[in-house]
Amino acid sequence: MEVLLLWVGFAVAVGFLAAKWQRSGFGWFFLACLISPLLAGIFLLIGGDVSDKSPRDETGNRITPDTHVHCPDCRELVRKDARKCKHCQAALVPQN
Ligand SMILES: [Zn+2]
Repeated sequence: MEVLLLWVGFAVAVGFLAAKWQRSGFGWFFLACLISPLLAGIFLLIGGDVSDKSPRDETGNRITPDTHVHCPDCRELVRKDARKCKHCQAALVPQN
């Protein structure tokens, strides 16, 4: 009985971790129940945290609302401190 509780407990933990990583929590919980929470946990770890797939600009800098704004003319993302949009060449007001 304890083994079953442990099994389901770990499966729930895998599901929560999956949900935290922007994956299907229920799907991973189900998978963990089905095969083994340990195996599912390993698969999840190998798959990694997909929530950190935020877009990056051409220099590898992460594009976040903190660093980039939408160009008012073309709606492309441009750096906050840019004075000219790299997409449409519109003049921008640098924001700091
Ligand atoms: Zn633009």
